[in-house]
Amino acid sequence: MEKTLSIIKPDGVSRNIIGEVIRRLEENSIKIIAMKMLHLTKAQAEGFYAVHKERPFFGSLTEFMTSGPVVVMVLEGENVIQKYRELMGATNYKEAAEGTIRKDFATDIEKNVVHGSDSPETAAFEISYFFNNFEIVG
Ligand code: ADP
Ligand code: MG
Repeated sequence: MEKTLSIIKPDGVSRNIIGEVIRRLEENSIKIIAMKMLHLTKAQAEGFYAVHKERPFFGSLTEFMTSGPVVVMVLEGENVIQKYRELMGATNYKEAAEGTIRKDFATDIEKNVVHGSDSPETAAFEISYFFNNFEIVG
């Protein structure tokens, strides 16, 4: 079974979309095997997004990610990395497919409500960034 890391970003939490995101996971038979709420520090956000540190949006992205609490989850299922990316929609909500989370709720290319790992290697890094083995059930 594959695992992926999901984050409901500060815009999703502050706009009360936590339940809607979780509803879509459950509706699509994606299992939540770990979950917690965190308010990231700048250093924690920078470490999580280290792969983007040379990008022009890095400073703004890490500010945004520390602007309020986030909900981090580990999801499990067959092909769940790709399946969850499909539920999220494209990074730029203007290019996201109809019915995706980002198409329905994102307000900005940065404030796009959700994060999902993009490969098995990234998922392993991102899951271990937030959770230890005792915090993951199943
Ligand atoms: P994704 O979250 O779809 O995997 P990326 O890994 O490319 O997208 O980027 C990480 C996050 O950085 C995006 O979800 C978004 O919040 C932000 N971001 C990406 N591209 C831009 C951009 N051109 N301008 C501002 N923020 C961006
Ligand atoms: Mg990414």
